[in-house]
Amino acid sequence: TQSKPRQPLLKTALPGPKSADIIARDKQHLSTSYMRPYPFVPDHGEGVWLTDADGNTMLDFFAGIAVTTAGHAHPHVVRAVQEEVTKFTHVCLTDYPQEITTSLAERLLAHVERPLPGGNAEKWRVFFGNSGAEAVEAAIKLARNHTGRTHIISTMGSFHGRTYGAITLTGSKTKYKRGFGPLLPAVSHVPYPNPFRPPLGSTPETCAQAVIDHIESLFVGILPADEVAAIIVEPMQGEGGYIVPPADFLPKLRQLCDQHGIMLIFDEVQAGMGRTGKMFSFQHFDVQPDMITLAKGIASGLPISALLAKESVMTWPVGSHGSTFGGNPVSAAAAHATLDLLEGKVKHPGCGESLMDNAREVGGFILSELRKMQADFPFLGDVRGEGLFIGLEFVGPDGAPDGKLRDRASMAMFEKGLLNLDCGEAVIRVSPPLILTREEAETGLAIMRETFTELSADQG
Ligand code: PMP
Repeated sequence: TQSKPRQPLLKTALPGPKSADIIARDKQHLSTSYMRPYPFVPDHGEGVWLTDADGNTMLDFFAGIAVTTAGHAHPHVVRAVQEEVTKFTHVCLTDYPQEITTSLAERLLAHVERPLPGGNAEKWRVFFGNSGAEAVEAAIKLARNHTGRTHIISTMGSFHGRTYGAITLTGSKTKYKRGFGPLLPAVSHVPYPNPFRPPLGSTPETCAQAVIDHIESLFVGILPADEVAAIIVEPMQGEGGYIVPPADFLPKLRQLCDQHGIMLIFDEVQAGMGRTGKMFSFQHFDVQPDMITLAKGIASGLPISALLAKESVMTWPVGSHGSTFGGNPVSAAAAHATLDLLEGKVKHPGCGESLMDNAREVGGFILSELRKMQADFPFLGDVRGEGLFIGLEFVGPDGAPDGKLRDRASMAMFEKGLLNLDCGEAVIRVSPPLILTREEAETGLAIMRETFTELSADQG
């Protein structure tokens, strides 16, 4: 039994000399498009702790953007990868079937296939890629191919990736699009029903219906519904600010899609794979899509993504779509190990029956503690989420999003050893590895409280 850190351990000023050297070389040689929210240079990790190039150990509250489900260097994941990598590292799934990817598909599908009236299970199929964007591209292609229609409807504030199809669908921040056009034709964006900032003059209670009405009004006056191949939506919006829609939104969207023969695609890249306390975030609502995109959390950090689609929908012809690296066996091994932990086949000490249980349990605790802090710090405008998918929105005295204050909070937390990541206009996401214990959560929450106390003293 190794002794785990209980508190961040800061040995140098930040950044320390080794980190500073790497930062300087990074600035010189790597893409000018990379963001660097604060001077952190990871060197190695264990569990929910990351140590930088100078030996400073910090608590990880963002998990490589909701990716490292089992934390860093989890022994069960490491063993699975080591075992697989000695067999072969690549053959090409597009051409040849392999046990490890076949059984991975079967395991993923077991979480979506539901019994139909009459007793048979509804069949689904899997296409494997490498990244979220690649899964989204596959979804666009499949929706068009299957329906023979071209138009795709997406939501404002959404994020779907940075390849051409995916950035076209992305509905947040013009920086993703400026100077890159022309983008994909035949894409429209509709508001997302954010209960904290209800769109279209609606209220938190009516915002879902308002968005549905808005789409229907497009069908009447602007966009023929029978030209719409798909509506793509994040069942809980990630990059846009960790937003949970009202319970009636997705069922109403399902109804609308059924009425018009439109494919409903749920982008579960960020909220899926147990993060919200259920395998997929849409499972918090009584609804079933036609396609699901997955990536990030599947393999605790090894690159793999998936498009899941109903068998009746995945009808594209042999050879029409593929990927050289997609479904890589080493990534698939890490995905199996991650599923073992998520499903509770392998237990992680201190995390209850499964990592999904733990996400619910510890996430619920963080959510309620942050809500208590709202009473003391009026700039914490909204605290929302499910499981370990939690958004904390900073607001100014007028209630408007306060991105500057959020940035100050983010930097101050880093300086105290709490790694965090922004999203939306003024949100900090809490998306730690799903192995976070309650004790570790308390450590992070204490740093947050200390930060907010300092910020409120500064505000005078
Ligand atoms: N969809 C969603 C919901 C995402 O959050 C992201 C990444 N933030 C993507 C797609 C794109 O994934 P990737 O960066 O792996 O291409």
